[in-house]
Amino acid sequence: METEKTKKPKRVRGPVQVRTDKGIQELRVTKSKAVKLRCLDCCAFNKKQVKECDATNCVLYEMKIKGKLEGEKAGMRRARAIKTYCRVHCMNEQRDLVKQCNDINCSFHQYK
Ligand code: SF4
Ligand code: SF4
Repeated sequence: METEKTKKPKRVRGPVQVRTDKGIQELRVTKSKAVKLRCLDCCAFNKKQVKECDATNCVLYEMKIKGKLEGEKAGMRRARAIKTYCRVHCMNEQRDLVKQCNDINCSFHQYK
């Protein structure tokens, strides 16, 4: 009989075609990477502008500053922040538009 707890393998999503500073690339995009790419996309892929962004009301701001979320339920908070970004910042509270969004090259598309 097995005594040690067996860990569930991490779910890895397949590569997607995503907008980057080098054009559309096929990449595996984790949620953390998706946030980085979204901030770059927001600033026309200008890293300096991302650094200087002081939009403290943006739901991604905390992650932009810290690099990633840490602490309890960080993964869940990150996932929620992505959904909130799509709904509030991108689609002005219109959930239907988020559902219908067909920007498949947006780094948030697979997580929206
Ligand atoms: S924190 Fe928000 S406003 Fe600032 S660069 Fe990122 S997405 Fe854009
Ligand atoms: S996936 Fe669609 S709704 Fe979400 S941020 Fe990107 S463009 Fe906006």
